[in-house]
Amino acid sequence: MSELKTIDKEYIANTYARFPVELVSGKGSLVYDESGREYIDMGSGIGVTAFGIADDEWKAAVTGQLGKLQHMSNLYYTEPCARLAKLLCEKTGMKKVFFCNSGAEANEGAIKAARKYAAEKKGPDYFTIVTLENSFHGRTLTTLAATGQAHYHELFQPLTPGFVHAPANDLEAVKTAALQNKAAAVLIECIQGEGGVIPLQKDFVTGLAAFCKAEDILLMVDEVQTGNGRTGELYAYMNFGVQPDVVSTAKGLGGGLPLGAVMFGEKTEFTLGAGDHGSTFGGNPVCCAGALSILSRIDDKLLADVKKKSAMAFAALQGAPGVESVSGMGLMIGIKPVKPASDVVKACMENGVLCLTAKDKVRLLPALNIPEDILMKAIEVIKGACA
Ligand SMILES: *Cc1c(COP(=O)(O)O)cnc(C)c1O
Repeated sequence: MSELKTIDKEYIANTYARFPVELVSGKGSLVYDESGREYIDMGSGIGVTAFGIADDEWKAAVTGQLGKLQHMSNLYYTEPCARLAKLLCEKTGMKKVFFCNSGAEANEGAIKAARKYAAEKKGPDYFTIVTLENSFHGRTLTTLAATGQAHYHELFQPLTPGFVHAPANDLEAVKTAALQNKAAAVLIECIQGEGGVIPLQKDFVTGLAAFCKAEDILLMVDEVQTGNGRTGELYAYMNFGVQPDVVSTAKGLGGGLPLGAVMFGEKTEFTLGAGDHGSTFGGNPVCCAGALSILSRIDDKLLADVKKKSAMAFAALQGAPGVESVSGMGLMIGIKPVKPASDVVKACMENGVLCLTAKDKVRLLPALNIPEDILMKAIEVIKGACA
């Protein structure tokens, strides 16, 4: 470990503040460090390993495809991406899918589609995208511009122009921003993840959807973190009773392999045409085979289990000593401790539980299939660390 730390420090760009632990293997929601010590994984690689580590069904799907065709250009047809796109559309009512490799890229695809849609429909000055204050949409220069948190922007000016931010849950402010700036689209996270696990208010989301429809402004939902069963519905927007025009997703979709997707609804299904967008790795057959295994298992029973485990976790955490509040939905949970969140996460790690932070919250994004006893064991450790 100390040698690895030295190599990492010397050769890896200094963009990550790592915890002092090297993880080497795992199974399901348990993960092991180099000394064989066991941890309960309550972060699942930031909501990526949707069915845990080295899940047997996912592994069989991935390795089966790996031995057949690990990559092929999008110049040719391949089966896993076509089948995955069909399943995504059948489960959401969306019409078409573009595959890429990450959340930021999915948002880039959504933004490009919005710009083209509005330019064609309303004219070239309808290019602005309205996003919410405290949002997070990625790390590229365009998705940083979309991100409504100034501290991400400071060192990287100039960012892509054409983004304005409005306060979350203030429908009048979003409407004004959209109309004054000739907006092409409004892009939201239904639960702000990096911003501190903060769900939007339901009447704000439904009001926004009605406004967007009336004005022919695209409603785009960033489901990179909230998607793929995380909130107890397949996509978080389904908790709010709205139908977006564009949905971006990534993280949990690939079950641990890099895969992003932009889903287009009726308005935008034909917006991007041949040559308008592309990706060398997008729709990679191995990633898509894994995603097919993940998505086909996010059914009503699994979602009911997510909701049940969520209720158990919320009940155990709410009002516990040292816990100020608990937020989120499904297995996307934010705990506001009295102590600094980073101190709680450190104490949890020392006691064998890996958690994340999001601003002043301890953030939990465990595997969707985490067994109840393991989940509750972790929650007890977290409660102990908060007290
Ligand atoms: C993680 C995240 C992104 C960025 O995803 P990457 O795969 O890291 O590019 C974008 N939006 C939201 C809401 C996210 O949580």
